[in-house]
Amino acid sequence: DLLVVGSANADLVVGVERRPAPGETVLGSDLAVHPGGKGGNQAVAAARLGARTALLARVGDDAHGRLLLESQRAAGVDTTGVLVGGAPTGVALITVDPSGDNSIVVSPGANARLAPEDIRAAGALLGAARVVSVQLEIPLETVAEVAGAMSPGTRLVLNPSPPAPLPAHVLAVCDPLVVNEHEARSMLGGAAGATPEEWARALLGLGPRSVVVTLGAAGALVADTRGGDAVRVPSPQVEAVDTTGAGDAFTAALAWRLGRGEGLAEAAAFAVRVGAAAVTRRGAQASFPTAEEVPVGGVP
Ligand code: ADP
Repeated sequence: DLLVVGSANADLVVGVERRPAPGETVLGSDLAVHPGGKGGNQAVAAARLGARTALLARVGDDAHGRLLLESQRAAGVDTTGVLVGGAPTGVALITVDPSGDNSIVVSPGANARLAPEDIRAAGALLGAARVVSVQLEIPLETVAEVAGAMSPGTRLVLNPSPPAPLPAHVLAVCDPLVVNEHEARSMLGGAAGATPEEWARALLGLGPRSVVVTLGAAGALVADTRGGDAVRVPSPQVEAVDTTGAGDAFTAALAWRLGRGEGLAEAAAFAVRVGAAAVTRRGAQASFPTAEEVPVGGVP
């Protein structure tokens, strides 16, 4: 039902007392290796909810690539579309200091080699999907190829992360464009406006068919060119422990429910519950809930 096209990374995490200055060496904690990347995260989040999910991505022919494939399969993701080789698996080198602040170097590796011809060669996977979810941790021309491959029966969900200017023909098929506050401001530049309702209106002006703005603990706002005002979708109130991956869990849940025929506000009402569940546990993929673990909706 859901095809995720995107990045898969190994997150290599070390705790440090302080960051090294240029030319300096510091000792850190034991290394922790976690499966990550926005594409990989979204695929795992959807599959864990029970969605029939496939991932189209590229990893290296190396230990990290095998780890990522294994974590996808363990979650129940169809990995026949995961290509192997061409460059080392993408990694994020992450140091965490005692205050919890991250410093991150990303080596895109194989993600940067997921090419338009890889999309053209995956016609069967694209043809079988009701909804395709894509982010920007793969080359923009590959994203454009995905957008151009949408048939009338397929819906494209696009999260512009990391933010980058998108060509009009890509924006025109986004249904919805899903942004957090940072991505909204970045897409709009100085023209952002003061309220999420104003951002949503301005984002619709860029050409997508619909827009979803996620607002952290405040939930989300949905807006559709097909009518009506923007609608606020509140999130359940939870004890937030770690917000890593919350946006990926939200977007995966939203895309899956849209593919099942739900309306935008209805799908977002489910997605905020999935996002809220994801912030109650540490980690990215490790924090994603099963269907039974999704809290009931509504704000007390
Ligand atoms: P991102 O993770 O991309 O920065 P947000 O912070 O907007 O995106 O979070 C995405 C979704 O996760 C929100 O729409 C909401 O459903 C949920 N969420 C995030 N932070 C919280 C929180 N503190 N309490 C409850 N839900 C949250």
